[in-house]
Amino acid sequence: MIAAMLNAPTVLQRCEDLARCTEEPGRITRRFATPALARARQLVAGWMRQAGLEPRLDAIGNLIGRREGSGPTLLLGSHLDTVRDGGRYDGALGVIVALAVAERVGQRDLPFALEIAAFADEEGARFGTAFLGSALLAGRVSARWLEHRDREGVRLADALDAWGGDSSALDAPPRRDLLGYLEVHIEQGPVLVEANMPVGVVDSIAGQMRAFVTFTGTAAHAGTTPMGSRRDALAAAAEWIGAVERVGRETAGLVATVGDVEVAPGAANVVPGSAVVSLDVRHADDGARNAAVQTLHALATAAAAARGVEIVWAQAHATASVPCDPRLTAQLAECARMVTGVEVPRVCSGAGHDAVMLGEVAPVGMLFVRCAGGISHHPAEAVTEEDVAVAIEVTASLVEELALERV
Ligand SMILES: [Zn+2]
Repeated sequence: MIAAMLNAPTVLQRCEDLARCTEEPGRITRRFATPALARARQLVAGWMRQAGLEPRLDAIGNLIGRREGSGPTLLLGSHLDTVRDGGRYDGALGVIVALAVAERVGQRDLPFALEIAAFADEEGARFGTAFLGSALLAGRVSARWLEHRDREGVRLADALDAWGGDSSALDAPPRRDLLGYLEVHIEQGPVLVEANMPVGVVDSIAGQMRAFVTFTGTAAHAGTTPMGSRRDALAAAAEWIGAVERVGRETAGLVATVGDVEVAPGAANVVPGSAVVSLDVRHADDGARNAAVQTLHALATAAAAARGVEIVWAQAHATASVPCDPRLTAQLAECARMVTGVEVPRVCSGAGHDAVMLGEVAPVGMLFVRCAGGISHHPAEAVTEEDVAVAIEVTASLVEELALERV
């Protein structure tokens, strides 16, 4: 049995303890700048002290535990916030596994300082600001974000200051002392379950484009307007939605999703005059993603033109794909091979992570842990003790290897 098996039950118990820090009884909801997140942070700070780390809070409310060492800093961590009605492990597992790793390598004199970050906001569930916590370390907090308001109308800056943060200190320079950033995270997909593997190594985090496409035709009476003289916006949108799925299926590595359609006027006896359709496109390769988006744009134009409908294509945002550091990734894969005895899968993360931000200032490496059914952002999130033990073992061996390299 690998040594980390001793730590795994504690890791799961701690995730359970964190799950009780929630805004909504009976659910796990822990959003940015809430008392629930502060309680979770307090628990983690106590565990940090037990692991010999000195906890501190930064201006955005990230909890960072540090053990001094000579030279640069190796950062491990993940986020402590959740979506509404989320699960126990998305984010929290990475923080707690990092603590277990710190305990494992604790007695040794490392040739670098060790820090564990519990980021205050990755999901953006309250203010729609993804990676807010890790953005501070990358020097990428935008002043515009401070004006975002939650559903109750509370400004982000006010919520942060009332919560013990400091909205006037978010223009701190990026961290330039980082040797690397390592993050353990549940996979949030089915690859590891299908491959029957406990962990996988992340190659890259997919780039993403989101757009809203408005199809505009003419609303008309469903009984009296002949089929030949209609300008049916929804029929055009529907044809295109089918094409989005087809292009997604036919293009290797691409995921393309229509998740929302808003139809007007929206009555059973009226030919739809307009349809606003969301589009989310992701791929590890930015060129392949851009090519797919161009194809989808052309198909939308064609589906609309065939019915005398017009389209307006509004891109909401696009982020480039983030490659994990090739060297750290190869080392992580080798550690995983040593621990499991087999080659573990390389995966592209379709979901965004704090590593996207940290990638701007440090080499990043990510390890995925198999999660039951590939389910995430849901109370049914589940991992096994055995898989968690492997994740601890792999990460601890990498930290030890990085230490050996620098001696
Ligand atoms: Zn996450």
